[in-house]
Amino acid sequence: MSKKLTQSFDVIVIGAGPAGYSSAIRCAQLGLKTVCIDNWHDEQGRGSLGGTYLNAGCVASIALLESAKIYHSLNYRLKEHGIQAESVGVDIARMMQRKNTIVEALGRQIVDAFAQHKVVCIQAEAKLLNERLVEITPSDQSAVSILEAKHIILATGSSPIDLSCAPIDNEFIIDSSMALNLDAVPKRLAIIGGGVIGLELAGIWNRLGAETILLEAQETFLSMTDQQISREAYRIYTEQGLELRLGARVISAKKGSKKVTVEYQDNEGTHALRVDKLIVASGRKPNTENLADAEANLLLDENGYVHVDENSRTNLPGVYAIGDLTLLGPMIAHKGIEEGLFVAEQIAGIQNPINYGLLPSVIFTDPEIAWVGQTEQALRATGEPIKTAIYPLSATARAQAIGQTEGMVKIIAHAETDALLGVHIIGTQASEMIAEAVLAMEFSASSEDLARTIHAHPTLAKALHGAALALKSQK
Ligand code: NAD
Repeated sequence: MSKKLTQSFDVIVIGAGPAGYSSAIRCAQLGLKTVCIDNWHDEQGRGSLGGTYLNAGCVASIALLESAKIYHSLNYRLKEHGIQAESVGVDIARMMQRKNTIVEALGRQIVDAFAQHKVVCIQAEAKLLNERLVEITPSDQSAVSILEAKHIILATGSSPIDLSCAPIDNEFIIDSSMALNLDAVPKRLAIIGGGVIGLELAGIWNRLGAETILLEAQETFLSMTDQQISREAYRIYTEQGLELRLGARVISAKKGSKKVTVEYQDNEGTHALRVDKLIVASGRKPNTENLADAEANLLLDENGYVHVDENSRTNLPGVYAIGDLTLLGPMIAHKGIEEGLFVAEQIAGIQNPINYGLLPSVIFTDPEIAWVGQTEQALRATGEPIKTAIYPLSATARAQAIGQTEGMVKIIAHAETDALLGVHIIGTQASEMIAEAVLAMEFSASSEDLARTIHAHPTLAKALHGAALALKSQK
């Protein structure tokens, strides 16, 4: 097959997920001739921009959770509002169609933004040949060509880790992407992994009526979150009907004629579960398998993450890696977006470093969990003098009025300087409320600054204010 050098660009971006598309658009805005290559396609072979985040992750998950919440409210909350309705049912096909329509509309927005900014978009498989050259192969394997650029940005994202004890069969044993495309509500569902993805999926299917059992190998629930918040989350999710089995390591999953038998081990021995579906949500790995030719000598670590410095530069001059490909920060969409913008600006000679310490984290369950800064357990381990205060959402008039009183806001400040060190929220709209805390910490606010800031009343944000006032009264 002949390969020829077809075009030269200032920047080649490989991958059009949040990291890649935001980087490509920013490069173009800064006057750089940019091409973005992406290989995502649907079952019909149609290309779709936006990566996992849009096509098989966050957006799809949030869209389905919204439908599930409405269904659940109709079943369990109408009475308290004095509303009567008869025969509430679920049409999963229609629900999936709504989700797909949202995903397609957002995908078209990326296509339009590329067109508006004159980013060349190519649907193909890209492979890094060296620090200047990228080979591209269209899905029909025809016309392999070579593109050249002064700068190359790797943004190919991540994909689910396969568990050898529970091989995906795309029917009974499925991964997180397929779990967002089921055509019926399973009667009994097990999920391997009580991490962010496992919990987000559990919240959807449990609300739609599936008996849902989450099997998590770790003894500690949500070990990355503040433990006071994760205890509250455990209590709330369990009361909602989710069965959370901690310290439960799955060792095998076998498909029968219509069910899956899942075997797991805990302190008490080996147990078996029979379920209609099993979702594997045991973590994600960077998509670096075929990303670079061996002769390119791109440096990866033993788990396949691209080695980068604090400026997202790989070992190859002019080649950057961003988003889920690196261990610089967690696998979250907005980290990728920030790195995408940062690298684009770096190429254009602007240096706006990212404050990784203030990346907010969000778990899109119901209620949501969101946090920024450090946890109490991490700060106590360092011996830092701290003070903490919590404010329950139930103490705010807004939460009472909307009937969403579960959860709390927790503030951690330095005991001597009063500087905000961490804000942790569990409750409805936590993902929106955390923005105020991120901004406050970005501007090095103290807890007193928050306490002195006027908050509209009655709002959920008054819980943040309440927690700051509670800290103030400790002085
Ligand atoms: P994760 O690593 O957060 O959780 C996977 C869990 O599976 C772990 O707790 C692990 O102990 C458990 N596990 C592994 N093997 C097991 C076994 N055999 N039996 C029982 N439990 C087992 O991974 P994830 O939830 O798949 O998410 C992947 C990444 O994507 C994470 O970094 C996550 O933060 C990110 N993500 C973030 C968001 C968000 O920001 N809202 C959404 C989706 C994904």
